[in-house]
Amino acid sequence: MSFRPIYLDSHATTPMDQRVLTAMLPYFTEDFGNPSSINHAYGWAAAAAVKEARTQIAEAINATPAEIIFTSGATEANNLAIKGIAEAYFSKGRHLITVQTEHSAILDPCRYLEGLGFEVTFLPVQADGLIDLTALEKAIKPETILVSVMAANNEIGVLMPLAAIGSICREYEVLFHTDAAQAIAKIPLDVEAMQIDLMSLTAHKIYGPKGIGALYVRRRNPRVNLAPQIQGGGQEKGLRSGTLCTPQIVGFAKAVELGLAEQTKDTERLKEMRAYLWEKIGKLDGIRLNGHPTQRLPGNLNVSVEGVDGAALLLGLQSRIALSSGSACSSESTAPSHVLKALGHSDALAYASLRFGLGRFNTFPEIEETAQYVIDAIQSLRSLV
Ligand SMILES: *Cc1c(COP(=O)(O)O)cnc(C)c1O
Repeated sequence: MSFRPIYLDSHATTPMDQRVLTAMLPYFTEDFGNPSSINHAYGWAAAAAVKEARTQIAEAINATPAEIIFTSGATEANNLAIKGIAEAYFSKGRHLITVQTEHSAILDPCRYLEGLGFEVTFLPVQADGLIDLTALEKAIKPETILVSVMAANNEIGVLMPLAAIGSICREYEVLFHTDAAQAIAKIPLDVEAMQIDLMSLTAHKIYGPKGIGALYVRRRNPRVNLAPQIQGGGQEKGLRSGTLCTPQIVGFAKAVELGLAEQTKDTERLKEMRAYLWEKIGKLDGIRLNGHPTQRLPGNLNVSVEGVDGAALLLGLQSRIALSSGSACSSESTAPSHVLKALGHSDALAYASLRFGLGRFNTFPEIEETAQYVIDAIQSLRSLV
């Protein structure tokens, strides 16, 4: 790429932090051993690195190292949580509860389970993107085995009230899973304080490498049982077989470490840049903010633009700004965003939406340029009609 548009798609993925790459490099070459090789120094070096990384990631969410199961990312962690719980607890009950605005890596496994005879409640959201806690409580039945509600939405950035959901689930003795792919290291997460039983994580949304993530699985109060979805060599306590990818795991831990160390600084900068962007764009007529105004990820701004063609708007911007209208997965298809539809938007308004994902490496001048490009693009499209 010679000319590069301004990258504002941090909910899809983020560039790797140089410091993460530096931490990973030795594990591709000198320290290449298989962490499961227990008979020689190559294996020991790799195992020690994995152990340290596991401890760091566990501490970041107030868990213990034994509760971290490495996976290829949040998609796999979500599949392991949803299908693994269904398979382990089906004799107790066959009802699950989730939310209409979840990522497809939750919705699709849930629909798959429906096909196997499970019942799934897909809770609606309010106009601000948050769930109604009373509706959640009412949806719980004696047969309910799992509630899965994401920590931070990947389109509208809305932060769900995890502690309140956790306490409802604990009261009814239903397991609570949260997809924290967008939240880890960006907002405080504590599996004890929030009474979370399973949590999906991924590295590539927090300036770490692609292809690595984890599922936190509670081991006490209560101990969570899970049926493995990938079987083989018995790695990760038999819950996820396959040779551990040491460089990715080391990079994941480094990304988490940096995210925590820089959380306050990153949050402040992102909020400031987002406020500027919203102040400028929000001045135009017919612009709506999607999602709760304050209870959202600091780097997220999602707006709908009335009276313009969504495809034309994105096309007009794409040479200058890299962003999308919905999630990376749904923007490959032509369907309007299921998240914006759940907010009550028409198809046309859902199409005419822009998701700005600001990240650690964006600069203020980039945001100033972005505001101007977006305003120009909207005004020129509106002047055509
Ligand atoms: C990105 C994302 C996923 C998928 O994570 P991968 O690691 O890419 O598999 C799942 N859930 C949410 C909320 C996400 O943002």
